[in-house]
Amino acid sequence: MSAKSTLTDERTSLSELRRLIASFVKERDWTKFHAPKNLAMALACEAAELMEHFLWVESEASREVVLDEKKRAAIVEEVADVAICLLNLCNVVGIDLSSAVEGKLADARAKYPVHLVRGKSLKYDEYG
Ligand SMILES: [Mg+2]
Repeated sequence: MSAKSTLTDERTSLSELRRLIASFVKERDWTKFHAPKNLAMALACEAAELMEHFLWVESEASREVVLDEKKRAAIVEEVADVAICLLNLCNVVGIDLSSAVEGKLADARAKYPVHLVRGKSLKYDEYG
C-alpha cells in the first residue's frame, strides 16, 4: 500500500469513508463514468481480483495465504478496491448500506433460525 494508514475501523464511520470516496471521484470528474452498471461490473471485477489470490488453493491452505506478508498486502489492496467500488455504488445509487445490511441480516435470521442451523452449512431449503 502506498499511503500510510491514518484511518482505522474503530475510528472511522461508513459515512466518512463514503465522503472520502465521493470527494475522490468528484475531484477527478469521474462521476460521468460511474453509471450503476459500470460500478456493479467494477465491483465484480475487483471481487474476482480478490478471489484470484485463493484460486486453486485448498480451503484449509487459504487460511495460510492470508498469513503470508506479501500475499496479505495484495489481498488487503483488493479488499479495499471491493469496498471502494461498493461504497461508490451506494453513493451513486443512494443506498444506505447500514440499513440494507440490517435488513438482510433480519431476513437471514428468519431464514436461518439458530436452533435449526447452528454448526450446519445447509441452505435454508435443506433443513427442517
Ligand atoms: Mg484491484
